[in-house]
Amino acid sequence: MSITGNYDTDNIFAKILRGEMPCVKVFESDHILAFMDVFPQSEGHTLVIPKSPCRNILDAGAKDLGRLIGTTQTLARAIHSALKPDGIVVTQFNGAPAGQTVFHLHFHIIPRYDGKALGAHGGHMADPDDLKAVADRIIAAL
Ligand code: 5GP
Repeated sequence: MSITGNYDTDNIFAKILRGEMPCVKVFESDHILAFMDVFPQSEGHTLVIPKSPCRNILDAGAKDLGRLIGTTQTLARAIHSALKPDGIVVTQFNGAPAGQTVFHLHFHIIPRYDGKALGAHGGHMADPDDLKAVADRIIAAL
């Protein structure tokens, strides 16, 4: 699949945005949605997406991108305050060869804890109740 191309309105994040698929929400505004990654690579792994349809950083509007990174910082701060990780990775992949698997622009916020290995990308599906408990702690710190 090319790095550029048409936006697929049936991608999983588009379905989450339309309410056709559930998610454990952490934050929502007119332009942004943030929710827990269902295959978390660590406790608190959060995804931040624009509501506007774009595949990746190449076709995103500058305004959307600005809002997205601003909200990513806000959430990273809340995650830091709530979960006390020892480090925080922020990643964003563009195109399948770069590791992108869902073709709606998103930032990953992945807390890192000393001595704890990172889980596999798309590895173990989390229990929704566990995700909700973590999300509630992050929300309380927002
Ligand atoms: P990418 O590989 O495109 O950078 O990241 C996509 C992310 O979306 C992965 O970390 C994956 O675990 C997550 N993901 C895939 N499907 C779902 C889903 O249905 N719900 C949620 N919350 N996350 C998903």
